[in-house]
Amino acid sequence: MPEVLAYACDNTAAHFHPTTITRREPGPTEVYFDIVYAGICHSDIHTARGEWGAVRYPLVPGHELAGVVRQVGSEVTKFAVGDHVGVGCFVDSCGVCPQCVRGEEQFCSGTGGTVWTYNSVGRDGLPTAGGYSQGITVEQDYVCRIPEAIDLRVAAPLMCAGITLYSPLKRWGAGPGKRVAIVGLGGLGHVGVQIATALGAEVEVISQTRSKEADGRRFGAVAHHALSEPDALAGLARRFDLIVSTVSASFDLDALLACLQIGGVFVDVGLPEHPTTFRLGSLVGSNRVLAGSNIGGIPQTQEMLDFCAEHGIAPQVEVISGEDITAAYDRVVASQVRYRYVIDTATFGRPSPVS
Ligand code: NAP
Ligand code: ZN
Repeated sequence: MPEVLAYACDNTAAHFHPTTITRREPGPTEVYFDIVYAGICHSDIHTARGEWGAVRYPLVPGHELAGVVRQVGSEVTKFAVGDHVGVGCFVDSCGVCPQCVRGEEQFCSGTGGTVWTYNSVGRDGLPTAGGYSQGITVEQDYVCRIPEAIDLRVAAPLMCAGITLYSPLKRWGAGPGKRVAIVGLGGLGHVGVQIATALGAEVEVISQTRSKEADGRRFGAVAHHALSEPDALAGLARRFDLIVSTVSASFDLDALLACLQIGGVFVDVGLPEHPTTFRLGSLVGSNRVLAGSNIGGIPQTQEMLDFCAEHGIAPQVEVISGEDITAAYDRVVASQVRYRYVIDTATFGRPSPVS
């Protein structure tokens, strides 16, 4: 059984320390790959800090994994040693329920349901451990191929941030002739601006301040609106066909719904800790639609990776070491990251004998 170095936290304080975890030997249809880079998603932070409920500590988060195949089981047909691969938010599902058959494994209704990459229980009966580690064993059907054109360090964030924006933008028709707003220019948002632009939509950013305006325009946005400015949204009434919110904290939903066209669609992907309220009149008065979207299945994740390769879409990343994870969490929450922290697992050392 391969033992690998990892970073874990033990409680909601989310202080990370080095540790070792055991990965199973790959079964006949499984691959073992070396994780080279792992993105830090805000969902890791919500989870590790207990903002979403029960956590299995010690927790090794990380569901944006990119690496290189080291070992394949005897019946693996999809991958070979040396291939560049990625894994996102889940590592297993039943494979036979209607959702799995449709390629929407994130909604598996079979026994055990979707097995999440961390804070879940794997097919070996052990708690799953995520990407803040140097290697992982995964069933081949839950692994995606990273196109040659995408560097591994920028591929990692695509495995969650990329698919989480690609899926609703496709589903709700972002494209030529559509005016799309992305709310929150963070890890998800900055990829969303690039994808919506590549799909042919006219994209605008709604952000807390103007500090990210130049970056937003570089990612493809044609306008930037700062919520900190008085009446920022007043001039945007009925402006957008589609709004995608990636905001990780509570916000004024009514004010943003008012920015939708008649019949326009507001898709929320952000998952703040606390419940949100809004006036139903904000929807009813203009035939608006309020929708949610949860990552995407394996076929669409592969489609997204190929789309990003074709259109030169790349997350902007800051590469950090294992020792930087704890501080990085605070910087993400303060909207200071530009725009995704990616952990370089080659920086992991042996646990200190005294820790
Ligand atoms: P992130 O990098 O922290 O980005 C969130 C952005 O929201 C920030 O950069 C900031 O943008 C904006 N924001 C933060 N606090 C705000 C506030 N108080 N008011 C208004 N805007 C605020 O996080 P992320 O990794 O992109 O994830 C975003 C959210 O999506 C998280 O809740 C995460 O759990 C969730 N998520 C959902 C899915 C899914 O499948 N639905 C998948 C992954 C993540 P500005 O600086 O531009 O204002
Ligand atoms: Zn995520």
